[in-house]
Amino acid sequence: MAGIYIHIPYCRHKCSYCNFFSVVSRKSMNDMIQAICLEMKLRLPVLSSDSLDKGINELEIARYSIDTVYFGGGTPSLLDSSQLKQIFDNLHLNYRVSATAEITLEANPDDITTENLIIWKELGVNRLSIGIQSFRQEDLNYLNRAHTVETALDSIKLARKFGFPDLTIDLIYGIPTLSNDQWIKNLELFAELSIPHISAYSLTVEPRTPLFKLIDSGKIQPVDEIQSSEQFDILMKFMENHGYLHYEISNFCLPGHYAKHNLSYWKGIDYLGFGPSAHSFNGTSRQWNVSSIHEYLEAIKLGTIPAEFEKLTLSNLYNENVMTGLRTMWGCDTKEIKQQFGAEYEHYFEKQAMKWLDQSMLNQNGSIYTLTHKGKFLADGIASDLFYI
Ligand code: SF4
Repeated sequence: MAGIYIHIPYCRHKCSYCNFFSVVSRKSMNDMIQAICLEMKLRLPVLSSDSLDKGINELEIARYSIDTVYFGGGTPSLLDSSQLKQIFDNLHLNYRVSATAEITLEANPDDITTENLIIWKELGVNRLSIGIQSFRQEDLNYLNRAHTVETALDSIKLARKFGFPDLTIDLIYGIPTLSNDQWIKNLELFAELSIPHISAYSLTVEPRTPLFKLIDSGKIQPVDEIQSSEQFDILMKFMENHGYLHYEISNFCLPGHYAKHNLSYWKGIDYLGFGPSAHSFNGTSRQWNVSSIHEYLEAIKLGTIPAEFEKLTLSNLYNENVMTGLRTMWGCDTKEIKQQFGAEYEHYFEKQAMKWLDQSMLNQNGSIYTLTHKGKFLADGIASDLFYI
């Protein structure tokens, strides 16, 4: 069982807060599709280096079952039908994608047209992730998003009409133009639309983004951390009252509508990433492709994968396990920690966790530790305190 991530590094325009790798010029797009297809073949042996050690041949590795495929970016919904078909053909040629695989495509609202929905469905996409961000025009303007509120609402209705029941949307809170009351209204609109899954993120101002420069030069309002925390609190309470499971710090779903692909990241399942800046993980090592269109295309042309490689130590693996586990509603299980990493790590975790239990930031149920409501505001800080260094 494994997942595949395909990074499409093109956007119609750059949103001010974004630090994902993407470019606006689309002149290299056809070459990029060919290169991504080639990388699928080049990466066949990477998925399980252990299998190679055991002498399993390339053909068998190719049949490694793929249970989730995720098109992210950038903006994968910019791909035309022939480009997307080329990717799907190569995917099925090189990998055994299970018949029940979750296949997600990130789409911007302005690309959700009848024509595109028909093509996506025909090719096997069964889950759409729509980058709505806010149902308020003022917020969309602050974020420099290309779409309007009207397009956002139309896109959700159209996707529904075309039978994409597994929809998820992204919303951002902590935007200086978004008051707490307006945030509640955004959430009410989300609930009225009966969307089964949401990823809600606090606006973070990443260095080197246009947003950082605009705030730094005093041209626009800065982000208020207190307002952000209040809106996270509103979000958690609202979702709980509306029957959504808070299954990961930024993700909520109705029962049974988990994002399987993201779950596999959090559960340490192998995945392969294709395209510039994409990451791959095989249980013991991690790779990340170069974040450059030119360098990526040139390397693939020469039959090499332009990636940096990191062999993960036991401590690295434990730390990742703690970081991802603690952010989910399943938490960290010290029995599993002992089994995977040994008694020393189990004892270390228990010792470090004590102060967080005392401060009611963690809950303990037998061997399982989860974040409390209060602890969720400090999730990353608590996790790093439990790291083995
Ligand atoms: S559309 Fe998405 S990937 Fe592209 S610039 Fe905006 S936030 Fe970034």
